[in-house]
Amino acid sequence: MTTPQPSDPISRRRTFAIISHPDAGKTTLTEKLLLFGGAIQLAGAVKAKRNAQQTRSDWMSIERERGISVVTSVMTFEYGGCVFNLLDTPGHEDFSEDTYRTLSAVDAAVMVIDAAKGIEARTRKLFEVCRLRDIPIVTFINKLDRECRDPFSLLDEIEKTLALDTAPVTWPIGSGRSFAGTYRFGAKTVRKVDSDAEPMPVGGLEDPALTALLPAHDVAAWQEEAMLAEEGCKPFELAAFREGHLTPVFFGSALRNFGVRDLIDAMAAYAPSPRGQEADKRAVAPAEPKMTGFVFKIQANMDPNHRDRIAFMRVCSGRLTRGMKAKIVRTGKMMSLNAPQFFFARDRSIADEAFAGDVVGIPNHGVLRIGDTLTEGEDISFRGVPSFAPEILRRIVISDAMKAKKLREALRQLAEEGVVQLFLPNDGSGALVGVVGALQLDVLATRLEAEYGLDAKYETSRFSICRWVTSSDPVALKSFIDSHGSSMAEDLDGAPVFMSPSEFSLRYDAERHPAVVFSDVKDYQ
Ligand code: GDP
Repeated sequence: MTTPQPSDPISRRRTFAIISHPDAGKTTLTEKLLLFGGAIQLAGAVKAKRNAQQTRSDWMSIERERGISVVTSVMTFEYGGCVFNLLDTPGHEDFSEDTYRTLSAVDAAVMVIDAAKGIEARTRKLFEVCRLRDIPIVTFINKLDRECRDPFSLLDEIEKTLALDTAPVTWPIGSGRSFAGTYRFGAKTVRKVDSDAEPMPVGGLEDPALTALLPAHDVAAWQEEAMLAEEGCKPFELAAFREGHLTPVFFGSALRNFGVRDLIDAMAAYAPSPRGQEADKRAVAPAEPKMTGFVFKIQANMDPNHRDRIAFMRVCSGRLTRGMKAKIVRTGKMMSLNAPQFFFARDRSIADEAFAGDVVGIPNHGVLRIGDTLTEGEDISFRGVPSFAPEILRRIVISDAMKAKKLREALRQLAEEGVVQLFLPNDGSGALVGVVGALQLDVLATRLEAEYGLDAKYETSRFSICRWVTSSDPVALKSFIDSHGSSMAEDLDGAPVFMSPSEFSLRYDAERHPAVVFSDVKDYQ
């Protein structure tokens, strides 16, 4: 068990995200977590705050109209001697690219599962992204206050569909209307629903103080079930959890603020402090003295009065101090970090210093983009902020041809923010934009109009798929690019991209060019 050391800023930090299928209770749980951190006074403030921000911002009205959250925000709060950085992710799958990038900046995740529904499509997809990086996962089975599935079947489903071992730390006492609380294995304590009291020690499953919580006719069956769970399930093991093979499971109800304290205590005790990060030339350890970090998210118009762009950077090592100079490795330019910001649920405030694991917002006017590494001078680039081949490709047309240059500039800026991907065909024809979900196109059109005064329309393109092409044989790659001129484009970094009208034709080309690798994922840098 990690015991946070108040004097050591790194071991105190827990940087995590919540992954779940929409409606499982992520927002409700976030609110309750923030309550524990004292970051907000009232439950409901997360949504209220979002609404307040939305009304101030025109393009975010898309979000409001559709009741979804487009932006990823960061919430920092302190609890139990730890500093928690909770990275929020958009719920709608059309913005999943944002979510994947955010997951590249966390060290742990909480997986929220609706107890009536079990593992749903998006939970599974997000879990797979976490698994790619072996991110340890704590599971919270939510909505126990409603009719729900048998706990064994839920654990079994996690084990089978995610190939992840489960270790129930608590066990529900009743469910739905008779949900009375949870029993904690090992500690032999009972936490009662709707009670702020400390957990009550009991003598075991037979203790009358425990059995009195259940309807008399349910006691024997419950005892048998709990005993089976205690003896049959795997015990919690820190090493297996840290390696991403085993998840501790908690049962609760976010709405009733039940089970949340056990969850956050587990995050403090078990979740890892900031991990080392792989860069291109070497691995960077969090305790290194020099500051390094990478940008995983750019957000525009957080404050429409200032038209600012905030780059969210995860600090990977060292100490970031206000006013320090940092090198943007991609351009070689230095920038002053004059006003790095921390984001609390209530507000943002200037950060005087930040450490590995922290996420700071850096206001800038377009010099930073997604994937950028900042250092105190060393030329290294962090890996792991991926780009995924878009599922929808559209050609952009504007009615006023005189504004073509402006359009290109606008698209470049918005692509740097990660709103869309931009592909410039080698044959000089009009730019194509690529998105994972159709709502991204709505955001793009709204922002082109609101911020650049461009009335853009989308046309379908004859291409529907694109792949980054690379090869260990530069001659083979060049010859492929030269012979497929009208199907080739460059992405924002000038990397070659092959576009194809169908899966079938892509396969055909891939088979005929075995020396060329066609990839649907690209790491930034
Ligand atoms: P999100 O889409 O995952 O952010 O889910 P929300 O937090 O917005 O919750 C979706 C719905 O489930 C809302 O109506 C919540 O009030 C409700 N909900 C969340 N947690 C619980 C819970 O523990 N019990 C019950 N009964 N409802 C819940």
